[in-house]
Amino acid sequence: MTGTDEFIELSERRSAHNYHPLPVVISEAQGAWVVDVEGRRFLDCLSGYSSLNFGHGNPQIVAAAQEQLSRLTLTSRAFFHDRFADFAAGLGDLTGKDMVLPMNTGAEAVETAIKVARKWGYEVKGVTPDRANIVVMEDNFHGRTTTIVGFSTDPDARGGFGPYTPGFRIVKYGSAEAVREAIDADTVAVLLEPIQGEAGVLVPPDGYLTQVRELCTAENVLMIADEIQSGLGRTGETFACDHEGVVPDVYVLGKALGGGVVPVSAITANADVLGVIGPGQHGSTFGGNPLACAVASTVVGMLATGEYQARARELGAVMHEELRALIGHGVVAVRGRGLWAGVDIDPSLASGREISEALMAHGVLAKDTHGSTVRLAPPLVVSEDDLRWAIGRLGAVLEEL
Ligand code: PLP
Repeated sequence: MTGTDEFIELSERRSAHNYHPLPVVISEAQGAWVVDVEGRRFLDCLSGYSSLNFGHGNPQIVAAAQEQLSRLTLTSRAFFHDRFADFAAGLGDLTGKDMVLPMNTGAEAVETAIKVARKWGYEVKGVTPDRANIVVMEDNFHGRTTTIVGFSTDPDARGGFGPYTPGFRIVKYGSAEAVREAIDADTVAVLLEPIQGEAGVLVPPDGYLTQVRELCTAENVLMIADEIQSGLGRTGETFACDHEGVVPDVYVLGKALGGGVVPVSAITANADVLGVIGPGQHGSTFGGNPLACAVASTVVGMLATGEYQARARELGAVMHEELRALIGHGVVAVRGRGLWAGVDIDPSLASGREISEALMAHGVLAKDTHGSTVRLAPPLVVSEDDLRWAIGRLGAVLEEL
């Protein structure tokens, strides 16, 4: 089997159609570039939804994985293994928290945060049993489990999957006043993305995270930051919350934590919060496995140098300047931070999907989100020349409209 069409036809024939991929079949990748089955090269400007912050086949990450693969890959947490302690200490230090709880996917980590917040509410805050509520945001994206989609406001994500888990209050994103009004004596947490990725890279107003932090502290409510897409260097700081100097009570991490090699997610928090979980109360067969720990420890070590955050800052400035120059030339708005942008295309000219398809024809892979928005999130290892070239391609696509 060699042809793109054949691969796609055979893939679609025997799988659920839960994604709407661009018609490209990738077979190899290195750094910021991927190659398809027909030998065509594309600059990856999606990075596995920010999972490939360190690039495809990053030599440090691959070496750590290979070394670990041949030594020990899984014990389950029925036993200790020799990669766990370093991982827990490293990630704890990176986030400035006492404890970590590893999972695999982002959605699992969010579920973990919800469970921990509820238990903390009952055992520490003294909320009446089964009355806990969590304040969440409109247009959130936290994953696909039944509980999480129950508090989504996206009809595609939510519709048809009820009955939904109670205990969530949805408020307008970016309004600290709305959070204040929603909090009552039974509120155990406010769960938010410091920048909403899937919603179109929506950056909240300056001061919003600080105000939510202050409210949570004043009301004895946990601030949970879902940094699965925004964290680990993408925005030019280790965490998007860092831009306001805000420290949430719970970090939720995933995607790039696995270095683009293995699924690794985790929550981190101090002992007064994560200490509420005891033996038998939560777990995952693969969560915290030796391969995941070896890879994640390498990722944590790479972030500790600050090199990737600096690249995201510097290249992000270039990217945003170049993108802003397209406003009025088919682009109506550009948002984002660091090497991460939501580019709103004039909907009278083309949909985000049409732009993504046209970009693909020009050798750039990017993906639409929510109608007329194209998200750009190249690996942080992308070169400045390649980045400028990719935005030049976007300019060329818009001129062709
Ligand atoms: N939270 C955020 C902010 C995300 O962007 C995503 C995925 O896009 C998730 C959670 C879910 O992660 P996963 O797909 O690994 O379950």
